[in-house]
Amino acid sequence: MDKKFEEAVKDFPILTRKINDEPLLYLDNAATSQTPNPVLDQIVSFYQNTNANVHRGVYTLANDATTAYENVREQVAAFIHADEAKSIVYTRSTTDGLNLVASSFGDLVVHEDDEILITIMEHHSNLIPWQQLAQRKHAKLKYVELAADQTLDMADFKRKLTERTKIVAVTQTSNVLGVTNPIKEITKLAHQQQAYVVVDAAQSAAHQTIDVQDLDADFLAFSGHKMLGPTGIGVLYGKLDLLNEMAPIQFGGEMIETVSRTQAKWQTAPWKFEAGTPNIGGVIGLGAAITYLNKLGMPWIEATEHRLVTYLLPQLAQITGLTMYGPKTVAKHESIVAFNLRDLHPHDVATGLDMLGVEVRAGHHCAQPLMTTLGVESTVRASMSFYNSLADMDRFVYDLKMVKEFFN
Ligand code: PLP
Repeated sequence: MDKKFEEAVKDFPILTRKINDEPLLYLDNAATSQTPNPVLDQIVSFYQNTNANVHRGVYTLANDATTAYENVREQVAAFIHADEAKSIVYTRSTTDGLNLVASSFGDLVVHEDDEILITIMEHHSNLIPWQQLAQRKHAKLKYVELAADQTLDMADFKRKLTERTKIVAVTQTSNVLGVTNPIKEITKLAHQQQAYVVVDAAQSAAHQTIDVQDLDADFLAFSGHKMLGPTGIGVLYGKLDLLNEMAPIQFGGEMIETVSRTQAKWQTAPWKFEAGTPNIGGVIGLGAAITYLNKLGMPWIEATEHRLVTYLLPQLAQITGLTMYGPKTVAKHESIVAFNLRDLHPHDVATGLDMLGVEVRAGHHCAQPLMTTLGVESTVRASMSFYNSLADMDRFVYDLKMVKEFFN
């Protein structure tokens, strides 16, 4: 047994609790991850020792809070290999970050008859803001479809990318298909057409090394709560020259340099986008989460999760009546597996599993256009993290078969 794994699991007290008298098996990590003790401790310690509002005070405590808050910005920049901390905007979540780009940057660059290119596998968070922008601007929203193996159809992408495309918005990893898209190739092709690329990294930030410079992403958004951090904090990375061009969409304290009766002058990026008292405790928790991920090492996390999915997929494939979505090749699969069991309603399957202590998601996963493309209304989804074990996978398959038997 991997020593790192054994040590890490001890940091997650929730994993020892019971659900319906059975040991909890948490397989909804794509929805939110569990929070390890060092992250919780850091948040408590901040409120116990350093709590004050940031950026305003001249006193020591406020300076300490501001330093801690700004240090995390540096830490986030290093985590995603951004060249400067000013490229990091704190947001509430991935959704919040994507809405900021669509509302502010989208407003700048998208005009009538222009095109916005997204993919059919987008989460609603990276779909509706663009749909709204297209409607506001009388622009065209186009979708890249799936290839036969349910990965992104790059030939379709190349066909649909035109000189009219102003923005390409794409998820790095699908929250349903478990597939990771070739972002580097996408940005290269998009930039040849002078289009900007917005990456939804909600499902990748905690599972693989992200290098925004290598990807050459113009914007990239993710959420703290999917990467061992608290809820209510997220990050939007943007190339600094683009952030500088963008107007804020929220106004109030903190984001201004000067205000008169008739007008206001904004701070520079990223602070002009952070109106009002920010989620300081959330930022501290995010910093602790990054420290924790770095301690484990992203390559270790990636390898551990890949081992889980490599072990699980063939076992699921053997269950008669089980339809799996996403690529069937393990090499193309992240640790997110969506499936249906015979004609059973996904809610029934998930409820059955819950009775056995196994927590999985069932529904449309905020990806209704994808569901329509797959010809279903909803699916069951199991999503793993490094704190799951191969024994967990065995138990999951066993319990799934029990649920199937029960409904026979
Ligand atoms: N994008 C993807 C691919 C997701 O899976 C999710 C959440 O499940 C989101 C965006 C939205 O994240 P949040 O709800 O934290 O804003």
